[in-house]
Parts: sequence; structure tokens; C-alpha cells
Amino acid sequence: MKDSNCIFCKIANGEIPSYTIYEDNMFRVIFDLGPASKGHALVLPKEHFKNIFSLSDEYAAKALIIAKKVVTAMTEELECDGFNILQNNEEIAGQTVFHFHIHLIPRYKGDDVKLTWNPTELDKSTAEQTAKKISERIKK
Ligand code: 5GP
Ligand code: ZN
Repeated sequence: MKDSNCIFCKIANGEIPSYTIYEDNMFRVIFDLGPASKGHALVLPKEHFKNIFSLSDEYAAKALIIAKKVVTAMTEELECDGFNILQNNEEIAGQTVFHFHIHLIPRYKGDDVKLTWNPTELDKSTAEQTAKKISERIKK
């Protein structure tokens, strides 16, 4: 389903023009309008999913295959030195456009892109129990 109020639905389905790097019947990959680095691209499904929580398994499976193809070609063409693949879900995690998308961010030696956090220590007193509880939910 498409959402008539969603800008990424319109871009993904060609109703709004974009710089398209890749397109098939399910996805369009475009350049981000506010790139973190040269070549920053977004993988957009042509169907509307708010974020990963509602993404169908079919689209989820294909999305990473497309990301892999695109970053491989981009690395050859742009001669970048690495890639960050990033995907934000909900406002607290930095999601600003509520149509699922994967960021493909080329990295260049000496660039100024920041995707860092301060590491803390794993709470070993609860880790095993929490892992077990999550594992049980996955199996449900
Ligand atoms: P988010 O913060 O939701 O993970 O990422 C949204 C991204 O979409 C941002 O990097 C922003 O620059 C990009 N963006 C927002 N509106 C448009 C648009 O109309 N066209 C394109 N190509 N990128 C957009
Ligand atoms: Zn949408």
C-alpha cells in the first residue's frame, strides 16, 4: 500500500523526480538531499512501511541484497574507503521520515562524518536472563 501523504512513497514510485541510482519493481535507491558524505543514498521500498516494525519479511529480505549491490557499485565508482549502513526507527533513534529507508553512507579517509556513541559496560547480572526472555519472544 502507498500512503498519499508520504513524500518517500511519492519519490519511490516516481511521482516526484529524484536522482535514481537503482530501481526495480519493489525498490528505488536515490541520493539523499542532505548527504552526510558524497554519495549518501537511501534505499526506499515502493510500498509504505513506517519503519522496521511494520516492514514485511519479503521487503526486509530484499532490502539488504539491494544495499549490497549498490554499495559495491558505489565503492567502485566513488572510490570511497568504507561504508556505513544505517537505519533509524522512531523519533528517539533519529527517524525523521516515517517511511522505512536504509541509509548508505560512503566513508572517505579523513572525512568528518560522526556516527559514534560512548561505550558503557554490559550489565552481566541481567544479560543472561534478558537474552533468554527476548529469545522466547522471537520464537512465539
Ligand atoms: P531519517 O532521519 O528518517 O533516518 O532520514 C531521513 C533522510 O531523508 C535524511 O537524511 C534527509 O536528508 C533525507 N530526506 C528528507 N527529505 C528528502 C527528500 O525529499 N528527498 C531526498 N532525496 N532525501 C530527503
Ligand atoms: Zn511512504
